[in-house]
Amino acid sequence: MKCKNCGGVFSDELEKCPYCGTMNKRGAYKKYRQKIRDIIDRVFGLQAEAYNSISKLILMSILRGLVMIAIVIGLAFTFSRFMKVNYYNDPEYDREALEDILWEEENLDKLNEAFENNDFETVNKLYYQNTHVVSKWPHYDAFCMRKEYQDVLKDFDYSYFSSYQLTDVLYFLYNPQYFCNPLRWTQDDWNEYEEDRQEILRLMQEKDYSEQELSEIYQTNADEYGYLSSSKLDKYLKEGD
Ligand SMILES: [Zn+2]
Repeated sequence: MKCKNCGGVFSDELEKCPYCGTMNKRGAYKKYRQKIRDIIDRVFGLQAEAYNSISKLILMSILRGLVMIAIVIGLAFTFSRFMKVNYYNDPEYDREALEDILWEEENLDKLNEAFENNDFETVNKLYYQNTHVVSKWPHYDAFCMRKEYQDVLKDFDYSYFSSYQLTDVLYFLYNPQYFCNPLRWTQDDWNEYEEDRQEILRLMQEKDYSEQELSEIYQTNADEYGYLSSSKLDKYLKEGD
């Protein structure tokens, strides 16, 4: 374009005449618009950058949280594995297991023989020598029943018959699960139990309790699990001889 002041020719993109310095309105306006556009671009660029860094920050926090959770779970798992491995690798554990095996090898025949001969004193002694092994012995539950029978028999030696003694008798007659696990009894054990029951019933008859009466006392006082509260049985006690 041509300068209005000096007549010099120059590009209309320029905001001033390069020869005399007179302002070129068209060029100045174009430059001004360009600057505004640049500012707008920068502002939007900054906004986009801010959104980016905020979403990155949130993502990083989530990732960090997940990594922490994974580390905690990993540590807990490793620790529990380590504890388990340690327990089974414990030489003390191996030694005890080996001692039990040796003890069983040495005493199993003695134990069975004492049981066959109704020698419960010997079984009892062996039981206190090694409760681990004896409580896993197949006759253990039948033995507990026999031991309980002898305890109940002892009750009849006292001149005074208490509600505790009556409780023992009722457990023996109606809830043997209270002191042993009859599911592990053999047919012989059941026969033995039946004989013992008959003997207890006979002794109770001497104290004026009929079989039906005893059954009713148990049925009306046992809770849903078959357990009795001896204090509730006080009213069923009869005067001794
Ligand atoms: Zn000019």
